[in-house]
Amino acid sequence: MNRFQRRRFLQQMGLGTIALWATLASCGNRTRSLGAGQGRSVLVVGAGIAGLAAARDLADQGFVVTVLEGRDRIGGRIWTDRSLGVPMDMGASWIHGPDGDNPITPLASAAGAPTFVTDDDRVVVYRPNGEPVTDGELERAEAQYHQLLKRLARYSEDQDRDLSIAAALRAIAPDAIADPLLRYHLTSWLEFDAGGDIEDLSAWYWNEDEAFPGADVILPGGYDAVVNYLAQDLAIQLNHTVEAITHTKNGVAIATNHGEFNADYAVITLPLGVLQSGAVTITPELPSSMRRSLAKLQMGHVNKVVLQFPRPFWDETQQYFGYAHPEKGKYSYFLNARTFSDAPVLMTFGLGRAGLALEQQTEEAIAADVMSVLRILFGPNIPEVERLLVSRWTADPLSRGSYSYAAVGATPDDFATLGRSVNEVLFFAGEHTHPTYRGTVHGAYLSGQRAAAQVAQRFSD
Ligand SMILES: Cc1cc2nc3c(=O)[nH]c(=O)nc-3n(C[C@H](O)[C@H](O)[C@H](O)COP(=O)(O)OP(=O)(O)OC[C@H]3O[C@@H](n4cnc5c(N)ncnc54)[C@H](O)[C@@H]3O)c2cc1C
Repeated sequence: MNRFQRRRFLQQMGLGTIALWATLASCGNRTRSLGAGQGRSVLVVGAGIAGLAAARDLADQGFVVTVLEGRDRIGGRIWTDRSLGVPMDMGASWIHGPDGDNPITPLASAAGAPTFVTDDDRVVVYRPNGEPVTDGELERAEAQYHQLLKRLARYSEDQDRDLSIAAALRAIAPDAIADPLLRYHLTSWLEFDAGGDIEDLSAWYWNEDEAFPGADVILPGGYDAVVNYLAQDLAIQLNHTVEAITHTKNGVAIATNHGEFNADYAVITLPLGVLQSGAVTITPELPSSMRRSLAKLQMGHVNKVVLQFPRPFWDETQQYFGYAHPEKGKYSYFLNARTFSDAPVLMTFGLGRAGLALEQQTEEAIAADVMSVLRILFGPNIPEVERLLVSRWTADPLSRGSYSYAAVGATPDDFATLGRSVNEVLFFAGEHTHPTYRGTVHGAYLSGQRAAAQVAQRFSD
């Protein structure tokens, strides 16, 4: 029986009843001991990096694992689009801090995926009128930005209630957002990194998370190499949208658009925005502590626009072109894909409220808008864009946002709370459940491993 036939057979039989048989059958092309799992069954909801990490670890310990994924592909917010003829990552692009204990670096290496350092210092930044900023001016603006963040931290610590970053800035430096270069840094660095708009980000907790060391790298061949590597030999049911989860002390029943699945345990990696939307009912409902945390955290609106041109018309050696766009969050920098591929391609971003507004626009309107910026930077005679890719992560019912952040009133505990188990049957993972590395691929991956360890822990005594 090949892998596909076996999956179909498993689905038709119903998982709970044939757990041991399936374990033995799944050993057909891979030697696997029964281990801690002893043939117990686990359903993993979501084939993003968190779900795949959990599934991988559990399968390797002898659990009978089936992954239920609503999309027609794995990877979730890791999504490599190849329709331009070159790999373009519309979700995660970078391994942030690839050194130290970052678990994605060895995975990429095992997957045979080359990496490329995107050098933050190879950047030209332009003023709103298209005038390039000198190196000295940029250094001063950067120092001013860091100084501002220090003042922001001091001011917000002295307050007896949490404020948004924007509200705190209005109190200490009313002109900061109107200053083109400060605005450029606040959006390109702070909003992109933290995931939220400064109007919503908690001044107390926006940067309570941590980072691994090292200069960020991208995967020029596509980030999907990492998820494809993890997914090898896993039983993944694509196009299976989960609609309802019912749990008792004895197990879990999951209703999908293709029927019901049963198992001893479930690892739920639904994105924060999907959990908040109520699209998946959970019965009995989640504990009140989890519901409170769900209401406090927020999903950001980070979107990408990829533009393919007939030929490059920019300095091909620069890594980034920054633009102090008059509107915060709009096309404030461009990644030059020419440095790591043959493609005459630029990638730009819509962040925060501007990232959400972008989703409401047609491709034609977005192209016209970005082209008007590029003409300011590179002159009126540049060629028209040939092809365009646009992400719309917030409109996407299977993500409902880009990545999570601490909004005003939330604390790092809220991320941890969402990673607690329920009834010793439901276990949770996903970037939004990792208080230290939320909003990243490595955080999501580590959360999946944590959930797998929580399941296995039940049998270690
Ligand atoms: C534009 C953008 C840029 C980013 N850039 C970076 C970056 O450079 N570096 C970095 O480290 N991180 C980056 N991130 C964040 C990173 O992509 C995420 O933190 C990580 O991929 C989340 O993984 P996850 O497994 O928690 O969630 P997901 O990848 O979203 O996985 C959840 C899965 O559940 C599925 N699902 C949802 N609802 C259902 C349902 N009802 N039934 C069945 N399946 C369902 C989804 O389809 C998805 O496959 C970026 C994200 C975005 C959107």
